[in-house]
Amino acid sequence: MDESQSMIAVRLHGPRDLRVERAPRPGTPGPGMALLRVTAVGVCGSDIHTYQDARIGDTVVETPLILGHEFAGIVEAVGPESLDGNFQPLQVGTRVAVDPAQPCGRCEMCEQGHPNLCHRLHFCGTYPDAGSLSEYMIMPARSCFPIPDDMDDASAALLEPLGIAIHAVDLAKLRVADSVAILGAGPIGLYILQMAKLAGAQPIYVVDQLSTSSINLPGGWSWQHATAACRSTSRKPTRWRQFDRQRPGAASMSPSKLRGRITRSSGRRRWRGWAGGWCWSAFRDQISWR
Ligand SMILES: [Zn+2]
Ligand SMILES: [Zn+2]
Repeated sequence: MDESQSMIAVRLHGPRDLRVERAPRPGTPGPGMALLRVTAVGVCGSDIHTYQDARIGDTVVETPLILGHEFAGIVEAVGPESLDGNFQPLQVGTRVAVDPAQPCGRCEMCEQGHPNLCHRLHFCGTYPDAGSLSEYMIMPARSCFPIPDDMDDASAALLEPLGIAIHAVDLAKLRVADSVAILGAGPIGLYILQMAKLAGAQPIYVVDQLSTSSINLPGGWSWQHATAACRSTSRKPTRWRQFDRQRPGAASMSPSKLRGRITRSSGRRRWRGWAGGWCWSAFRDQISWR
């Protein structure tokens, strides 16, 4: 492949078959579109699921797919009438964070103000839409949001998962001194932890089956183990029934049993993510912050 017409991309060819290879470089952006040079890409739990199984939920990777949807880039070229996410003209050379979700804007859900529930949603890195683990990609200009000079590229790539955490805490309608349980200490769970703290939740519990020593906590926080409870499916963890809010992070756990048991009867649950197959008895550590 002619190197001037190609770029390096990371493509998934099948389960656990990820290849760094040359792919066709995108051409000139059309109206309302922008050519981006990708500067940073995050690896999401859903990327890992897709890598492992070459599918995510019901969506199967049928032909080689470039993964990646948490990313930042620099605008290399724009097509006519290219307005950014703030409805301002998008300029070449602008550093941007990118919203990977591309709702149709015309379906019932879009028209009702719920573009995240669009029936015809396209999403970077989800088959058949190419993702951002490549040198260049073309995106709608309206998906691009200029970032300040003092924000580095990696931080800009993390704005997408941060948005998920903000939305989750928003949906949970947290109030000061609400008790919160977060199921899953992955990136989304840890983001929600920080958002819940900012919202004034107290106490906040995070549950995961990971070894706590494998996770580095943000400054000043430490793990507290409370491994006595929740050892078996037969034991009713009544101490968990006190939670007002409960919000699983993505990809961490499936058990509807767990969700049902730990939220108090008038409490609220917010659920997001691809259900894993982990069972209640698998939880080794429960972690709390006070
Ligand atoms: Zn993600
Ligand atoms: Zn739509």
